[in-house]
Amino acid sequence: MHFELSEQHRILRSSVREFFEREVKPHAKKWDEEERFPTEIVPKLAELGLLGIRIPEEYGGAAMDTLAYSICVEECARIDGSLALTLASHNGLGTSHILSFGSEELKKRFLPKAATGQWLAAWALTEPGSGSDSAGLRTNAVRDGDDWLINGSKMFITQGRVGGFCVVLARTNPDVSPQRGITAFVVETDRDGYSASKELEKYGCRSSDTAELTLENVRVPDSNRVGEVDAGFRDTMAILDRGRVSIGAMALGLGRGAIEMATAYAKEREAFGSPIAKFQAIQWMIANAKTELDAAELLVRRAAVLADAGKPYGLEASMAKLFASEVATRVCNDAMQIHGGYGYTREFDVERHLRDVKICEIGEGTSQVQRVVIAKHMLRD
Ligand SMILES: Cc1cc2nc3c(=O)[nH]c(=O)nc-3n(C[C@H](O)[C@H](O)[C@H](O)COP(=O)(O)OP(=O)(O)OC[C@H]3O[C@@H](n4cnc5c(N)ncnc54)[C@H](O)[C@@H]3O)c2cc1C
Repeated sequence: MHFELSEQHRILRSSVREFFEREVKPHAKKWDEEERFPTEIVPKLAELGLLGIRIPEEYGGAAMDTLAYSICVEECARIDGSLALTLASHNGLGTSHILSFGSEELKKRFLPKAATGQWLAAWALTEPGSGSDSAGLRTNAVRDGDDWLINGSKMFITQGRVGGFCVVLARTNPDVSPQRGITAFVVETDRDGYSASKELEKYGCRSSDTAELTLENVRVPDSNRVGEVDAGFRDTMAILDRGRVSIGAMALGLGRGAIEMATAYAKEREAFGSPIAKFQAIQWMIANAKTELDAAELLVRRAAVLADAGKPYGLEASMAKLFASEVATRVCNDAMQIHGGYGYTREFDVERHLRDVKICEIGEGTSQVQRVVIAKHMLRD
């Protein structure tokens, strides 16, 4: 397997890089300070195909592959982690669940609106009492004629407030093992009984929209069910595999962005009569960052290429996410160190990258959970 990008992927990379430099870079710091989701960028993202990256053309999408998807998320994160989180969850979770397991009717109803940015997608698995132990969720859906009634609450849901629809995982059978009695439903966010809290105040990714949801007797028709009854958890594990590739890509982009800034700074900042880039201590941080980020890139690309080849890639996705997120957190920390005291101020973007990157070690399965997944694969008979 080789990882040289095709010409098509290289062109994509330079065009999305140019877009994020032009349309996002001048605003990312302000959006973060205002802790405001930038709705004004949504039509521009849609125009470039970034809200329907993997959605087939017949539903209005850009019909690109997982590798292309990871490149788009990486390039976005190089500039703005918050927006990268939005791209990852919209493309990789909410729309992906419908794309992979939804009926034809659901695809026609939801995917074109997602691809055009009319409706951003949210995806709700986590609850106040269950995160890593996601099968322990308590939100329930009860059949009522041709409909389902959904009750419960969800926590930390990206696009929970600004989204047009949310794929909700709910317990539909309490009498079987926890993993077997869960079903997915698409809930339009304007349905009676759906409410999202004021956005949660966060350490990083502050201009992404993160909400706590309450679902109170939310009525959805059976046609809003995604996948088979009681098979939602199995489907969720598959969705998270691809999601983890994109969180690995997000980490990679944040790490690359931070070390690029630190390298430029090291050439300009002088101490003891020479640029700090002349000091071996600074050079080693830059060398370690380059080496480790390149290794992370290979893991992310491998997982994406396997996914596109239709081969199993769950183990590789977990390894990519684990390694890339831990490396990128270290790299962002070193990038701030290279900036010295100035890096600690809000004047430089490196502090935003350091805050934003931490979520990559937490969301879509913490680093501890990734190690559990990897070990399970290794210890299988
Ligand atoms: C900004 C943000 C956006 C998010 N977006 C979404 C979203 O859109 N949709 C969604 O459904 N969720 C979302 N999440 C939730 C995220 O996926 C969870 O926070 C994450 O899975 C961890 O769950 P938890 O917070 O409940 O932590 P817990 O599960 O309570 O974990 C606490 C600690 O215990 C450790 N731990 C738990 N179990 C084990 C174990 N078996 N072995 C070793 N250590 C363990 C964890 O690694 C962690 O260190 C988001 C979270 C954040 C912060």
